[in-house]
Amino acid sequence: MGSEVITVTTREQCVALDEQDELAPLRAEFLLNEGEIYLDGNSLGPVSRAVRQRVDDVLDHQWGEQLVRGWGSGWMAQPTRLGDRIAPLIGARPGEVLVADTLTFMIAKLVGGALNLRPDRHVILTDRANFHSDLYIMEAMARRAGRPITVKAIDRSNLASHLNDDVALVELTHVDFRTGEALDLNEITRVVHEAGALMLWDFAHSTGAVPLDVTSAGVDFAAGCGYKYLNGGPGAPAFVYVRREFQGVLENPLPGWLGHARPFDFEPTYEPAAGMQAWVTSSPSIIALAALDGALDVFERTTMTAIRAKSLALTDLFIELVGQRLPGHFTVVTPLEHSRRGSQVALRHEHAYGVIQALIGGGVVGDFRAPDICRFGFTPLYLRFVDVFDAVERLVAVMTSESYLDERYLVRNAVT
Ligand SMILES: *Cc1c(COP(=O)(O)O)cnc(C)c1O
Repeated sequence: MGSEVITVTTREQCVALDEQDELAPLRAEFLLNEGEIYLDGNSLGPVSRAVRQRVDDVLDHQWGEQLVRGWGSGWMAQPTRLGDRIAPLIGARPGEVLVADTLTFMIAKLVGGALNLRPDRHVILTDRANFHSDLYIMEAMARRAGRPITVKAIDRSNLASHLNDDVALVELTHVDFRTGEALDLNEITRVVHEAGALMLWDFAHSTGAVPLDVTSAGVDFAAGCGYKYLNGGPGAPAFVYVRREFQGVLENPLPGWLGHARPFDFEPTYEPAAGMQAWVTSSPSIIALAALDGALDVFERTTMTAIRAKSLALTDLFIELVGQRLPGHFTVVTPLEHSRRGSQVALRHEHAYGVIQALIGGGVVGDFRAPDICRFGFTPLYLRFVDVFDAVERLVAVMTSESYLDERYLVRNAVT
């Protein structure tokens, strides 16, 4: 290491990187607070101009003028239409993705359906570091499966040793929400299938952030958030992916009228609609879908390959600058290998909560994840290299002044 050349990255170098950045023009599509550096798009993406236009159009013209006739002129098709817009972001084929509900509900539906496809098996395997909502809903679905089902939350690095012919389903979150580690989609899906189990991926921190190819990975089912990297707005609907081969086979365990083959025949018994429509349970939220529709526009002006290249450059730069400017202050929890990194950087610090609060006070919005993680999301659509530089400058100010110990930054908010 001694002979390694230390490159001190300057602000001018960052400005030069922004000048060459092919994604730079997309920043103008977003409504961002002047002077603020937003490193929390992994939790809630910002508003884009197209979102505002699309929502205004619903209020002014669709709901506003057509009223109930809106259902007959396009609203019903929104869940499948938006699913087809999301499909290319995850490598799905047309007709394999639908937008509805929110993520926890979608996982419940997929788990319920999947358990019925492996009636002789009694185990769901998942990661003990998984997002808590996934763990809660899987437990609840297991209790209601109609046969004994155990949810085994394991250390994911030992997954292979827990796979056997009693495992019905494996559910994993592809990018760890705390550490930012990206799991090996192809390899894990392959070993799960080898054991005869089904694979359900949670793409909450992956969609719109890292390229995914569910088709070549052979993924059975997946679901993800609309409001994180997809920027669909607070509480935006989720999406669900059901591989074509499972359509008509995997049953939606929460059937409702709008997933019926003929909803307006008002028949007393359920008959699922063809294809992904069967995953709709109840009335789609048209205003929320309009917002998500607008949010997806910007993804059509670039590619996931370009987004990924810039994401890695941004996270590399952040990690390098933190190492240069604040040696010894933080432990970088996020993997340094590109293949194992999502689009966020997690830094461990004893006073992580105070650090994040002090940074927010200084105009850099990141977030805290208990017990000791400072989490920073990097969204290539609107972040500049110079933002990374300036964010680290402000972090240096917080760390050297020890303002993170300030009493006003230590009172815990309910939402972190
Ligand atoms: C954000 C998130 C959820 C929760 O999504 P809801 O739409 O609020 O239900 C679930 N799982 C993971 C991994 C998440 O990051």
